[in-house]
Amino acid sequence: MNNKKIYQKNVYYTRKNKGLCVRCGKNKAVPNRTECPYCSYKDLAKRRKRYKHNPQKTIIKMQKQRKLWKENNRCPTCGKQKPEDCPTIKCQNCIQNLTTKIIYPLFYPGGSYETFNTRST
Ligand SMILES: [Zn+2]
Ligand SMILES: [Zn+2]
Repeated sequence: MNNKKIYQKNVYYTRKNKGLCVRCGKNKAVPNRTECPYCSYKDLAKRRKRYKHNPQKTIIKMQKQRKLWKENNRCPTCGKQKPEDCPTIKCQNCIQNLTTKIIYPLFYPGGSYETFNTRST
C-alpha cells in the first residue's frame, strides 16, 4: 500500500468516526450511511446517466427484480425483507432515504444537513 492510499484510508475513518460524509467531509452523513445527502444524490445522478445510456436493458432488469421482490414481501427499492405488517410498499429505510437523499436536496439547495434538521423541527 502506498502513502496516498494510507492517507485516503485515514481520511475515510476519521470522517466516519466523526459522523461526517466520507466523500466531502463537510456535511453530516445520513444516519447508518457514510455519505451526506449531497454526495448520495450525486451517485443517483450517475446512476441516472447510466440508465439514459441503456434504458431498455435497465428497465427490463429492474422490472423483473421488483416483481420478484414484491411477491416476496420485499421492498421494491432495496430488496430488503419487510416486516409482515409493513403498511407501506417501500421499507422504512427507503422512505427515510427518499426524504434525506432526494427531497431534501431539492428543497434546500445550498443548505447543510444541519440547517435542514433545524428547519424541519
Ligand atoms: Zn458529502
Ligand atoms: Zn427499501
